[in-house]
Amino acid sequence: KGTQAREVSKEFAVPQISTGDILREAVKKQTPLGLAAKVKMEAGELVPDEVVCGIVEERIGEADCAKGFILDGFPRTLAQAQFVDRVLEAKGRGNPLVVNIRVDQEVLMKRLTGRRTCAVCGEIYNVYYDPPKQEGVCDKDGGKLLHRADDNEETIRQRLVAYENQTSPLIEYYRQKNLLHDVDGNREPEVVAEELCHFLKGA
Ligand code: AMP
Repeated sequence: KGTQAREVSKEFAVPQISTGDILREAVKKQTPLGLAAKVKMEAGELVPDEVVCGIVEERIGEADCAKGFILDGFPRTLAQAQFVDRVLEAKGRGNPLVVNIRVDQEVLMKRLTGRRTCAVCGEIYNVYYDPPKQEGVCDKDGGKLLHRADDNEETIRQRLVAYENQTSPLIEYYRQKNLLHDVDGNREPEVVAEELCHFLKGA
């Protein structure tokens, strides 16, 4: 979803707001927010709604969000979805477009366990599908490639449980409102991005 959000952000020139990225940055800087979030993230559990809603509220109030924004990894609970409804209404904006990128569990496991991210530019590699030329080093800028602490099999299983219990009910929530667009995410990232951008342009 991060890869797709990044493409859409470039194509439409609107900011990508990734709650996961914002939380990881806070963890790195060891802010009070980061220290509280770290335990939950490393356990593969969700960070409390008040915390993430606060982050999103602050971020979407910034000037670069005036023409629209992409929420990446948010909402993840019903309370967060209701928060989005309230915020958009208060800002006099229309309904959100909601994209559900569906990926088979085995594919997902390989994408996450094999994922490596450049510490400098954020470029994403995969040791199975899309390895860098030199192991552990970004092709673009020579930055060190990092392996996320929560991208190990055990934590991924916990993240999938959290998804099943807390996030998957949102599919029905948005489907009933007729706002949901399903995309087959098992294909190559470029193919998915093209289809997604094509849909968004016509929406
Ligand atoms: P992501 O980068 O989207 O995979 O998120 C990584 C982790 O950050 C998740 O497993 C959660 O612990 C936390 N997180 C990110 N977004 C949210 C959210 N909307 N609600 C609760 N926790 C979140």
